[in-house]
Amino acid sequence: MKKFLSIALASVMALSLAACGGAAPESSDSTASGSEKKYIIATDTTFAPFEFTDENGDFVGIDVDILDAVAEDQGFEYDLQPLGFDAAVAALESGQADGTIAGMSITDERKEKYDFSTAYYDSYVCVAAKAGGDVKSLDDLKGKKVAAKTGTMGSDCAYALQEQYGYEIVDFADSDMMYQDVLTGNTAACFEDQPVMAYNISQGNGMEIIAEQKEDYSTPYGFAVLKDQNTELLEMFNTGLQNIIDNGTYDEIVAKYTATK
Ligand code: GLN
Repeated sequence: MKKFLSIALASVMALSLAACGGAAPESSDSTASGSEKKYIIATDTTFAPFEFTDENGDFVGIDVDILDAVAEDQGFEYDLQPLGFDAAVAALESGQADGTIAGMSITDERKEKYDFSTAYYDSYVCVAAKAGGDVKSLDDLKGKKVAAKTGTMGSDCAYALQEQYGYEIVDFADSDMMYQDVLTGNTAACFEDQPVMAYNISQGNGMEIIAEQKEDYSTPYGFAVLKDQNTELLEMFNTGLQNIIDNGTYDEIVAKYTATK
């Protein structure tokens, strides 16, 4: 099917070139050649310091650099697609993506559907509110609205604690939208991964952590493929990850994004 599409696309391109009488295009990259597989890897959009757009407009982060270093080490090609967390997982599930690297927590539930790499970063869920505001603990959320990101552990946690703390949940597609909603006061707090919230606070996002859920919501991040699919990609990822840990590249990447500025 893919092959057919690229042949169809190539002939459409040839036709339109002929129609405008243009010269042959300079040979482009190898995407369509079919000789070398280019893995499609899905990721989140705004999840600093793991994946985000920096001040120069470049898409960067720990996940982005780890994937790049692993791919270089293992000699595979990839196309990284920032889709948003829920959409990235959906792309993986439908086979539109070969792998996902998106600060994705390794959970038992997910292990039924996906194969995960070796864990590469520890994380847990926290709750954050506007710094210096009236919301200081989970008990202050009664009767208020809270923000959660669809499909995430933070969202699972928000729903699990909802009855106990009596808040309403508003679902968001990305992290920046949640933070904005809390800062403008529409929602009183949001559920987010602690390393991500801590990084954003260090960058002056004006929020503070009011609760931590280490006990039930501590899970490391892993690179994921669909269960029993792309096994060679998963093996390359694991081997490459071990190599970049051993040669110091992994530590350099983490330090680059977490050094206090
Ligand atoms: N670690 C969380 C999860 O896997 C959130 C990931 C994200 O928002 N990119 O559910």
